[in-house]
Amino acid sequence: MQSLVNFLNNKPGKLLVAGGFLFVSSEIVYELYLWLRKAPKPKPKSCEVFFVNRRKLLHPLPSPQEFLFEHINRIVQYIDRAERSICLAMYIFTVREISEAVIRAKQKRSVVVRVVTCESMVGNEDIKVQYKYKSEHLMHHKFCLLDTEWYCGSCLIAYHIAEYGEPTKHMQHTLFDKAVLSDRAGLLERFGSSCARCQKTKSRTKSKRRPQGPNSRGEVDPLPEHGLLIAGSSNWTSPGLITHWDNMTYTSLPDMIDPFTAEFQRMWYEFNDPLDKAILKEPLYRDRKFK
Ligand SMILES: [Zn+2]
Repeated sequence: MQSLVNFLNNKPGKLLVAGGFLFVSSEIVYELYLWLRKAPKPKPKSCEVFFVNRRKLLHPLPSPQEFLFEHINRIVQYIDRAERSICLAMYIFTVREISEAVIRAKQKRSVVVRVVTCESMVGNEDIKVQYKYKSEHLMHHKFCLLDTEWYCGSCLIAYHIAEYGEPTKHMQHTLFDKAVLSDRAGLLERFGSSCARCQKTKSRTKSKRRPQGPNSRGEVDPLPEHGLLIAGSSNWTSPGLITHWDNMTYTSLPDMIDPFTAEFQRMWYEFNDPLDKAILKEPLYRDRKFK
C-alpha cells in the first residue's frame, strides 16, 4: 500500500492519474454532447387540419408523385395502422389505393370493417356495406373512424338522450328514435349491453389493444390510444383528394370522436336495407358483384 502511495506521489504516477482523469472526463463530456444533440421526438398532435389543394413545402421537397398523392397516401398509411375497426361513412369512394387498404385491413389483419354509403356506391368493393334504398336524403357524410370504441346499446341510448333529449311521441321519428322510444331491447340486442365505455373497471385499451411497441408488421407507431377520426369535406375520389377546395381533419380528441361514433352507429342501425333480387336487376346494380 505504501509503495502505491509512493508511486502516485512520483512524477510518472501523477501523470498517470491526470491522464486517467482526462480520459474519463472527455468520455463523460462526449456522452453528454450526444445526449444533448439527440432531438426530442415530437409529441404527436391531437388534431391536424389539411386543405387538399394547399400543400406544405417540406425540406427536402417530396417527389412530384409523393406531392400529388400526399393526401391519399396519408389516408392509406393511417388505415394500414388500424388493428381493430374501421367505420367508414363516405358519400363517394372511388380511390383504388384506399379501397385496397380497407380490404387489406379486413383480409390480412381481421379488422372489423363497417361501411355506410349512398346507394350508388353499393357493391363497388369487396366489403359489405349498409345503405338506404332510394332514400330522399343523401348519406352525404365523409368521415372515417379507426380503432375507436364502439358504443354498446345502453351507452348509445344514454349518449343520444344526454345530447339530443328523450324522444317524445309528438316528434317526427327516425327508426333509431323509435327504437329509443319503444324498442330499447332491440337496440341492446343489436349493439350489446356492455362495452369498454361502461366497464370502467376494465382498461379501455389494455384489454383489447395490442401492447405498445412493434406489432405484427414491425411498426412501432400504433394509432392513438382512443383511435382516430378523419373527417372533412373531401369525398375519397381523386379530385376530392388531389385538386378540389376541400378540407380534412385528423383528430384523436375524444370530444370529437365520440359524436361521430354515436352518429355512425345511428346510421348503422338505420341503413339496413336488404339487397333483394328485385333490386339487383335494376340498372344501377346489374353489373356489380355482391358478397
Ligand atoms: Zn357500454
